[in-house]
Amino acid sequence: MAYFLKNEDKKIVLIDKDFIGYGATSKNTGKLDYQQGLIYHKIIKNYNKEVAKDYLNSQKEAINEVVNIVKENNIKCHLEKTSSCVFSNDINDEKDFNDEIKFYEDNNIKYHIDGSLKINYPSLISLSVDNTYIFNPFEYLLGLKTLLQDKVDIYEKSICKSIDKDGDCYRCLVNDCYIEAKQVVVCTHYPIFIVPYFLPFKSEVQNFYIGAFKNDYKNNIQILSYNKPVISMRYYEDYMLYGSRSHSSSTNLDILKDYSSIKGDIDKYFHKKIEYFYHTNDIMTYDNLPFIGEVASNLYIATGFNKWGNTNGTIAGKVLSLLIMNKDNKYIKLFNPRRGLSFDKIKNIVLYNIKVGTRYIFNKINPNMNFYKNDVTIKYINGKRCGIYRDEEGNEHIVSNICPHMKCNLIFNYLDKTWDCPCHGSRFSVDGDIIEGPSVYSIKINSE
Ligand SMILES: Cc1cc2nc3c(=O)[nH]c(=O)nc-3n(C[C@H](O)[C@H](O)[C@H](O)COP(=O)(O)OP(=O)(O)OC[C@H]3O[C@@H](n4cnc5c(N)ncnc54)[C@H](O)[C@@H]3O)c2cc1C
Repeated sequence: MAYFLKNEDKKIVLIDKDFIGYGATSKNTGKLDYQQGLIYHKIIKNYNKEVAKDYLNSQKEAINEVVNIVKENNIKCHLEKTSSCVFSNDINDEKDFNDEIKFYEDNNIKYHIDGSLKINYPSLISLSVDNTYIFNPFEYLLGLKTLLQDKVDIYEKSICKSIDKDGDCYRCLVNDCYIEAKQVVVCTHYPIFIVPYFLPFKSEVQNFYIGAFKNDYKNNIQILSYNKPVISMRYYEDYMLYGSRSHSSSTNLDILKDYSSIKGDIDKYFHKKIEYFYHTNDIMTYDNLPFIGEVASNLYIATGFNKWGNTNGTIAGKVLSLLIMNKDNKYIKLFNPRRGLSFDKIKNIVLYNIKVGTRYIFNKINPNMNFYKNDVTIKYINGKRCGIYRDEEGNEHIVSNICPHMKCNLIFNYLDKTWDCPCHGSRFSVDGDIIEGPSVYSIKINSE
């Protein structure tokens, strides 16, 4: 958004709790895709053909925007044109493929249907489209940051803890200072506020894991499976990135199991050894559309990118910059975070909150998770529930075991050696520092 506003008569202050570009975006697969699996027949089911068409146009516009920005500013970010392919090895998915093809035909999208994939992976049906791209989103964000450095005030390692209305301004508590602004845009991945509009209760945090391995050949294609478990593949230099095992943060608490599953897949299908493994989460909405827009007078949000943040984040920047300049835009209604809820959508929201609620209660009554080993214990110290991690040298790291965001009990993540919140995705180091929000407070014992 700062990029789109950079030449306007506005003073822009960009704050980041970490360093710009180090959030979820830096850990994604780097697909710039308008195909997005079989998303359009789902949007038609949720709404209608017009809404699906508007979403398609928004994603194509976002891809063009990124390509133009990269070319105009010569940003080195490994941008490459590819085709995109969605496949399934479940014959029952055929109807959904046919519905998607109908949408392609109505909207003049050229497509190819095939059975097998261009790589050695089982598939019964596959559908591909052209003119999609892959890139390195971290390099792209660093390029944007360099472009903005002279035009925007950038404060890194600056965490926003609260945003309060004060007359016709907002007062944002950032570290220990206040920043006053007439207009505030919250693009903190997961919203750091609950009201207005209760967005945290209307979205689900989903984890997703990526393994990278050296690969001898390279195909100019990005791939996504439709049947579960969802598999996402793309090539990056000499590597293949293999993503899978997506799940709600409230389920599958033992991350080592997800790691083993991905390692097993790579061994089984590619006979290769995993060299890198990383993971992050994303915010899923109840209707496949992101939340982008105004939630209260002059307070804006961009979240709920449904694992398509490279395009949705870009279109969010465009839409919000136009809203801030008081200009109209065809996507304002489409992405409106205050859009109405039908019975089906309320049902999705309820189901998600049951999952989080069940996890919340289960963790409260179950003092120690059964996969914890001797190096991790939960203890009450001075009446406070604490998590204790003993490192290889025998040093104890004691932190509060309660997430400051909504008081869920934290789970130990053995792979990264972090404390993770299964309810809304906050993560903390073994010494209590915040790694990922929505929590804006640490879990250090003496900070309480
Ligand atoms: C494994 C995986 C693979 C994916 N692959 C793709 C893909 O190939 N293509 C695609 O389009 N999408 C993909 N996605 C989705 C995409 O990564 C996300 O939608 C996107 O990164 C979200 O962007 P964001 O700007 O909302 O969050 P972030 O990139 O996390 O940015 C949020 C920023 O806000 C800062 N922040 C947070 N809280 C505060 C605070 N309180 N104060 C100040 N600053 C704060 C953070 O430090 C961070 O820099 C993938 C997701 C996953 C999980």
